[in-house]
Amino acid sequence: MTPRSDLVGVRATRAIVDLDAIAANVGALRRRLPACSQLMAVVKADAYGHGAPWVSRAALAAGASLLGVATVGEGAILRRSGIESRVVVLGSIGPTEVAAACRARLEVTVGDVSLLDALQAAVRSEHVAELVSVHLKVDTGLRRYGAVSDDVVLLADRICGDQRLRFAGMSTHFASADEPDEPFTVEQLTAFEQVLGSCRSAGIPIPARHAANSAGILTGRGIDYEIARAGIAVYGIPPSPEVPLLPGMRPAMRIESRIARIVPIAPGESVGYNRTFRAREQVAGALVPIGYGDGYRRSLSNRGWVGIAGRPARILGRVSMDQTVVAIPSGVSATVGDTVHILGNADDGAPSAIELAELMETNPYEVLVGIRKRIPRIFECQGEVVAVRKEDDWRED
Ligand SMILES: *Cc1c(COP(=O)(O)O)cnc(C)c1O
Repeated sequence: MTPRSDLVGVRATRAIVDLDAIAANVGALRRRLPACSQLMAVVKADAYGHGAPWVSRAALAAGASLLGVATVGEGAILRRSGIESRVVVLGSIGPTEVAAACRARLEVTVGDVSLLDALQAAVRSEHVAELVSVHLKVDTGLRRYGAVSDDVVLLADRICGDQRLRFAGMSTHFASADEPDEPFTVEQLTAFEQVLGSCRSAGIPIPARHAANSAGILTGRGIDYEIARAGIAVYGIPPSPEVPLLPGMRPAMRIESRIARIVPIAPGESVGYNRTFRAREQVAGALVPIGYGDGYRRSLSNRGWVGIAGRPARILGRVSMDQTVVAIPSGVSATVGDTVHILGNADDGAPSAIELAELMETNPYEVLVGIRKRIPRIFECQGEVVAVRKEDDWRED
């Protein structure tokens, strides 16, 4: 097959991001919410490794109203790529980052007095023209970022009382929403409601409330608030085996490569560093140019598999930094240049992100986020390539 002109010079090992899948997933999540609720697409960590600017534009076009990031830098990247929508920094930021957040017109999440102090000082000294939007995060049991109940009224009162701040939201985050039978989620919602009640009693006008993550949306908990925040489900991956996706939702990313060399392996020969695989019989090996330097973890050695000609092909020996050898399945006649499916679906013989996570002893989030810059991202709409991000496109500025 002749390569497409826009893919000439792009590394054979590549991640293909289906922006139609992002749109379909956002649409399905959107429909799960009450009509008046807004969906925040969480695009932190480069949209879980998918490419934040492209995913963000697709998600906004499909009905997401705002974006969530973890750091000021992630928000600034979205602004630099021309995204004008509301962007909320969900994580804790340091006092010295507040000015940069304001300059990039990011909404800030406050969870303690010290950040609010820094924010109030910055909006005074930086001559920030616009109001700075603030979300107040309440810790209802995750014991991570967020204000404890006793401090919430005080913080909310200070935010409301500052003419330069816009009280944009009150939020909390679930610890175990991906375990549908875990009663703790209900306890967290009860605690959140109590705090909201205290604010109301103190005469504080309640801003947009948000609690649900993907698992909350999919299991219908915390979805009656004005905003819901979806991350992993936007990418078509269920938050856990117990929380299935909705009909029509599908994974947005697949990873492919090509056979770089056919490696005949005779009985008694070994493959790879430290000779951890030894052939008992003749095997046709295929060299695949991917390794742990790409995020294809060494723990897949002798355990993982890829798809060749629709069949699973197991990894022989160690995964090294840049290369992996797999066994061409018996009965398959593969040649150099044939497609290898590294992450995908059973039809291609490839493992899913969930299966790769099991092999790597982690969760699918970490599998996706771990896919490194070295793997180019190819963005597709209706089967057409619409953008390519190569390794050298990542240079800042
Ligand atoms: C990451 C994150 C989310 C998204 O979680 P998913 O499980 O991926 O849906 C939502 N809210 C906050 C505060 C987050 O940090």
